[in-house]
Amino acid sequence: MSDVFQFMKVARNPGEKVDAAARKIVFKEIYAPLNKPDAGEQAARCLGCGNPYCEWECPVHNYIPNWLQLVDEGRLFEAAELSHKTNSLPEICGRVCPQDRLCEGACTLNQGGFGAVSIGSVEKYITDEAFKQGWRPDMSGVVKTDKKVAVIGAGPAGLACADVLVRNGVQPVVFDRYEQIGGLLTYGIPEFKLEKSVMQTRREIMEGMGIEFCLNTEIGKDITIEDLLRDYDAVFMGMGAYKYMKGGFEGEDLPGVMEALPFLINNVRNSMDTLPAGEDYISMAGKRVVVLGGGDTAMDCNRTSIRQQAQSVICAYRRDEANMPGSKREVLNAKEEGVEFLWNRQPVGIIQNSDGSLGLKLVTTELGAPDANGRQAAVEVAGSEQIIECDHVIVAFGFQAEAASWFEAQGIKVDSRGRTIAPEKQALKHQTSNPKVFAGGDQVRGADLVVRAVFEGRQAAEGMLEFLGVW
Ligand code: FAD
Ligand code: SF4
Repeated sequence: MSDVFQFMKVARNPGEKVDAAARKIVFKEIYAPLNKPDAGEQAARCLGCGNPYCEWECPVHNYIPNWLQLVDEGRLFEAAELSHKTNSLPEICGRVCPQDRLCEGACTLNQGGFGAVSIGSVEKYITDEAFKQGWRPDMSGVVKTDKKVAVIGAGPAGLACADVLVRNGVQPVVFDRYEQIGGLLTYGIPEFKLEKSVMQTRREIMEGMGIEFCLNTEIGKDITIEDLLRDYDAVFMGMGAYKYMKGGFEGEDLPGVMEALPFLINNVRNSMDTLPAGEDYISMAGKRVVVLGGGDTAMDCNRTSIRQQAQSVICAYRRDEANMPGSKREVLNAKEEGVEFLWNRQPVGIIQNSDGSLGLKLVTTELGAPDANGRQAAVEVAGSEQIIECDHVIVAFGFQAEAASWFEAQGIKVDSRGRTIAPEKQALKHQTSNPKVFAGGDQVRGADLVVRAVFEGRQAAEGMLEFLGVW
């Protein structure tokens, strides 16, 4: 039980990290789960701040100090119940959130240099352990309605929306073009951050709650939007952001230059034995690889290439380390696993050598004046060009949302960056310009974070419950 000076006596403990030499040859999560005593000790480090900043910085506003206290007191099932009141995928957020920028970054203990409570690891522990011990979401009080909603997309936004709907007696049917649920949780984020079995367990739990999945089904191809609008009381779209952003330099279409997401998806599907007929496994074994970009996707490409036994992996990013968009934790992990970083380098072209290998032209940059968003632009240093010889270049410059072919006919509007217009702050949260259609996640925000997609899926469900007259 709690000791007010626990934060001084026990260090921060996010779970033991597997040694780099051992982890860089396997696609397995690199942090060991906390056991009961460690989770309890960690939870007891929480100061129980009156105005908990961690809660405010957490995009779903988890009741963090409250569930930490329940863990400290050994009341695991109550902690799991409370954790699910604000988050539909707590075991997943506990694994993949950039906690250093969110909840843990705001922990008061950082100020004294004591190290934040390992909130993410305790969140993961609560749900993983509760599931193992037989806890299931309590659906006993749910009063069923006659309403049903079609959810397009089984990513975090769609799953979170379905979770809130089913808990309010509305029948969700979740459609996805892929063969598994999860969206980028399954097909983007590699197993060293999130093992696929975690998603499998979540699927069983959600099916047990009454959520129906209709997979291998693309809306607009296998089923039309008109069918959904006719057969369901409302539609939620959580279709993500998949438009590849090109660099706009010469040589981007050369053989050996590839887009990040198809590379990662190919690796996942190969491991699941679901590579479509005619598609070969892309392996970086023995190759010299350069990854362009500084976000989470770039880090995942770096570390996937390392695990595929690449001869060398270099990551080039146009700003400095302090200004990169990816999680600091993941950059450190990549460095430990042998990725070499070239900061302040911008690609200006790729050439093909006579032996088929590639020459990547980079220039050095320095940070110039801040732009309208306050970010300093990367400015080219004259005469700084260098060429890096390599076999593959993986381009990870991010993704944009875009309108589906059927948006216009259905009166669904997007903004100048292809993001579906469905604001939170309006009479019915996340309603689109077609009153029967709601949207959330990357499709509305542009490429972002899992936890923000979860929040928007939940908020959109609330908007839909009002629209359906259930609330
Ligand atoms: P998605 O996860 O993209 O799901 C959309 C789903 O809709 C997909 O399953 C798709 O198949 C389906 N779909 C689309 N159109 C149709 C259609 N017409 N019919 C049927 N189904 C359709 N975030 C983090 O917080 N932490 C990380 O560590 C992290 N790492 C990332 C690594 C990579 C490589 C990438 C690409 C992203 C990463 N992200 C990370 C971002 C995060 O994965 C996304 O923000 C999040 O998955 C968005 O959720 P979503 O539900 O909006 O969309
Ligand atoms: Fe932290 Fe993410 Fe969990 Fe919120 S959901 S408490 S930000 S790990």
